[in-house]
Amino acid sequence: MKEYLSAENRLDILRTADTSRKWNSPDEQRFCILCKKVIIARQIDITLDENGGYELHCPTVDCPATIRDWFYCASSYSTGKELSDQQKLIPKTWRGSTATKSAA
Ligand SMILES: [Zn+2]
Repeated sequence: MKEYLSAENRLDILRTADTSRKWNSPDEQRFCILCKKVIIARQIDITLDENGGYELHCPTVDCPATIRDWFYCASSYSTGKELSDQQKLIPKTWRGSTATKSAA
């Protein structure tokens, strides 16, 4: 059963599920390597699994991709100065999340 999720809830779920990438806005774009399409954070199909966790699925019909199959989309960084500033922060964030993961 699907439930309605606000943009903020979706971002929280994406951030929790995807520890290796950063989700800054509901308009964030990712490239799905399985269906070769650009997907947008707010289009991502979020369902509850039997353990009460969230499952994230590609919004493309019949695409089995999950969060592991989505990568940064180059075009999302060429839309403005603000985004290119965020891009500079990404390597730092990656190091941080890796350190957190190995410590846990
Ligand atoms: Zn896909």
